[in-house]
Amino acid sequence: MLSCKDISKLISGSLDRKLSWWQRINLWMHIGMCGFCWRFRKDLLHLHEETHQHAEEIEQDTADSDVKLPGESRDRMKRLLESQS
Ligand SMILES: [Zn+2]
Repeated sequence: MLSCKDISKLISGSLDRKLSWWQRINLWMHIGMCGFCWRFRKDLLHLHEETHQHAEEIEQDTADSDVKLPGESRDRMKRLLESQS
């Protein structure tokens, strides 16, 4: 049986890489019984999602400002796409 400490390590590890099947089973068995780790996982996932979303927003911002096609070539590309559909 894994301890809460082991489980919390598994949980944070699961954000970066895939867990093996036995790690997942251990994780879920533990979370099913342990309110502390269940909450820890929930909070961590929430936090992870928020950081991830912010990172995407920043990426989109830079993409928007960096890649600006001049109007003419954008129209040309649009016509090209329309003629293909
Ligand atoms: Zn626990």
